[in-house]
Amino acid sequence: MSTRTPPVFHALPSPTAELVGAVRLRPHRDERLRSGHPWVYAGELARPIPANYHGQPVVLEDGRGKALGVGLASARSNLAVRMVSRDIHPLGEDFWRGRLEAALKYRASLAQGTAAANGAARLVHGEADGLPGLVVDRYAGHLVVQVQSAGLAMRQDLLLDLLEQLHRPTGIVERSEGYVRQLEGLPVATGLRRGGLPEGPVRIVEDGSSYLVDLLEGQKTGFFLDQRLNRPLVGALAKPGWRVLNTFCYSGGFSIPAARQGAAEVLGLDISAEAVALAEANAKANGVEGICRWEAVNAFDRLRDLAKAQERFDMVILDPPAFAKSKDAMEGALRGYKEINLRAFKLVKPGGIVVSCSCSHHLRPETFLAMIAEAAADARRRVRLVGLHGAAPCHPVLPASPETDYLKTAILAVE
Ligand code: SAH
Repeated sequence: MSTRTPPVFHALPSPTAELVGAVRLRPHRDERLRSGHPWVYAGELARPIPANYHGQPVVLEDGRGKALGVGLASARSNLAVRMVSRDIHPLGEDFWRGRLEAALKYRASLAQGTAAANGAARLVHGEADGLPGLVVDRYAGHLVVQVQSAGLAMRQDLLLDLLEQLHRPTGIVERSEGYVRQLEGLPVATGLRRGGLPEGPVRIVEDGSSYLVDLLEGQKTGFFLDQRLNRPLVGALAKPGWRVLNTFCYSGGFSIPAARQGAAEVLGLDISAEAVALAEANAKANGVEGICRWEAVNAFDRLRDLAKAQERFDMVILDPPAFAKSKDAMEGALRGYKEINLRAFKLVKPGGIVVSCSCSHHLRPETFLAMIAEAAADARRRVRLVGLHGAAPCHPVLPASPETDYLKTAILAVE
């Protein structure tokens, strides 16, 4: 019998635009905040957040009482205040409209097909858009939102109204799930919230490759949009006749561009049968079903077996889920990353390419590259880094907050 107690969800209070009060940092805890970092941890505050401040706008003060800005408080999470403004003002409808407008305007300014009718891109990337805890992804005419904080969950109706007015989507789906939400005492919330949805998945086109995206049931918000520029980039490296291994392939990203660029054979591995079913449909839609093969397997086991069988590939792609979900899990995570990288270096032919990704924000780029160097040395391969890429610009990074710079996609030439 499980000894875990089920989470308790509390009804949320009604939101107010007015500043409900001030919360003060302990002395000398303001430096990170002053440099633009958007989070205040509970332990940095002189006193705990009062229960009646939960989800409401507060003024954050330094240890001497000088105001640093306005944030949304949480009386439940270790993330006690998420900063939204460096100026002191209420957080009314005009404020939220302005922030959403700015986020949409920035995406419209990006070329890269983000505005194409059947395109897909992230329209709001939380902290980096001054909207901490909010993600909005666009898939053709539809939006998928993710709400991660109590403060925004209380304002969800307003935010959805504004998104409808500003963007005029055909439908808005909510996919608010995951650990961060649980820490705020918020339940899982998934479903169609506005407008309508077509039967079945939505089709999007990314750099000429078409993908089905399951907005209600797919992983995350349905697709991994952070890799949107890296997929065509990696696909273009596949030379005619190449044999490609794409591990952690989800619905066929990386496989389909590589097959469309002329690879002779692309093997995709993913542990999720649903992902593999989507990948099969995607290969058909792109006319590359004769080139792509898919297996619903554990990539760790399959990589080991392929190495044992002395299989060889011209390109090996590793795009695993975040192995390090917390700082404490780093040691085990690094072992996992090293194992798959070692296998990739053993499987790749001389003159081939390994594409190694990590989306753990706890794993800093220098540690990631050191792990790759060790794995290559253990496999007795000489490798050169020919490119280290991050998330697409629709996922901007806040320089003051290393947490927002999480994706590392290393392209390695193997001698
Ligand atoms: N490259 C993909 C995104 C990969 S996301 C794209 O471009 O769309 C990571 C994937 O790893 C998920 O689809 C998840 O189902 C899969 N996964 C997680 N653990 C796995 C394991 N042990 N073996 C194989 N796949 C796994």
